[in-house]
Amino acid sequence: MDKMNTQTNSQIQADQTGSSHRISSVEAFQVSWRPTDPPGLRSAIVRVRTESGLTGYGEASPMMGGEHSLLVARDFADSLKGADPLDHAVIYDRLLHRYIKLGPEGAVTGALAALDIALWDLKGKILNLPVYKMLGGAWRTSLPFYASIGGNAARSVDEVVKTVEARWISEQPAAIKIRWDGDRTRQDYDIPGDIAKAKAVRKLVGDDFPLAFDANNQYSVGGAIRVGRALEDLGYIWFEEPVQHYDVRAMGEVAQRLDITVAAAEQTYTTQALVDIINAGVRMVQPDIVKMGGITGLMQCSAICYAHGVELVPHQTQPGIGHVANLHVLATLMHNTKPAEFADPDTRMHVAFENPPIPEGGCFTVPDGPGLGLGIIDAELDKHRT
Ligand code: CA
Repeated sequence: MDKMNTQTNSQIQADQTGSSHRISSVEAFQVSWRPTDPPGLRSAIVRVRTESGLTGYGEASPMMGGEHSLLVARDFADSLKGADPLDHAVIYDRLLHRYIKLGPEGAVTGALAALDIALWDLKGKILNLPVYKMLGGAWRTSLPFYASIGGNAARSVDEVVKTVEARWISEQPAAIKIRWDGDRTRQDYDIPGDIAKAKAVRKLVGDDFPLAFDANNQYSVGGAIRVGRALEDLGYIWFEEPVQHYDVRAMGEVAQRLDITVAAAEQTYTTQALVDIINAGVRMVQPDIVKMGGITGLMQCSAICYAHGVELVPHQTQPGIGHVANLHVLATLMHNTKPAEFADPDTRMHVAFENPPIPEGGCFTVPDGPGLGLGIIDAELDKHRT
């Protein structure tokens, strides 16, 4: 075995000048908050403990229950024993390149995102500082949100209106996004119906309320242009993922031909892929902290967006750890042009937090305790562990 392989396969040891808070264990587990929850409503948690008695928490995307990311995280857990949490960026790139042939997108970056968030949480607890302070400080610690309302492909026009009305009234969001969540194997199958739903929601909230439309990748280029023109007439402020995310050229064509802002990149997992989608013509991007890079990755995306004059509006659908990690990054963005995504008003996870993130008066407050600032109750996590 050559020297290079010996190095990459060995423990992720830190240099000896680091902190006295060495990693003692890394656990990766799925949490099912209610017995009937489908995998998408479960949480994929990474918990990192140090020899000094500190604990950091991270979360991966729950796609398919997050099991694929958890498998990767369990695989690298042993090699992290003895490492210094303050070496988190070195650890990230070592592990990314160790696992790169599993595909640098999806399960691997989800696992690394969860680990990165946990190590930032630990870093804050070691230095006694909130994450946003370590990132350079907050422009704001109170963040308005938009209600992200899914499942509208399967609803009638009346059902869409009723569903939107309930959250519009109960949550006081700064904006509303209606998501389609339709069948990705079919294209353009109910364009008149989709436009009718968009019109009905506009009528409900009035002319001036900010609305967005998330196609969840269900149109052809031609279909997307037709729907996008209708959304322009209805005053929608963005049109999200009109075509398949993996067809970057098509996404760019739609973005360039329409006047409405086209948003994409929630299914983008590397900084290089983010640059590709920007170069294709997309001017609002939505990388997700629990899918790619964690806090480190989202800050890299922030620099790319600033340099390219592109809006960064992170995708975020987790109501707990991922959500709070996202709020810390949003607090630090100078140009924060859109509200934070709030997909899930469900309180199922609140049992695990001393201070669950609950919006008040239409805003979330970024916690100011050390690390993520979340008080997490281990007994509840362990009780719901699958
Ligand atoms: Ca979306």
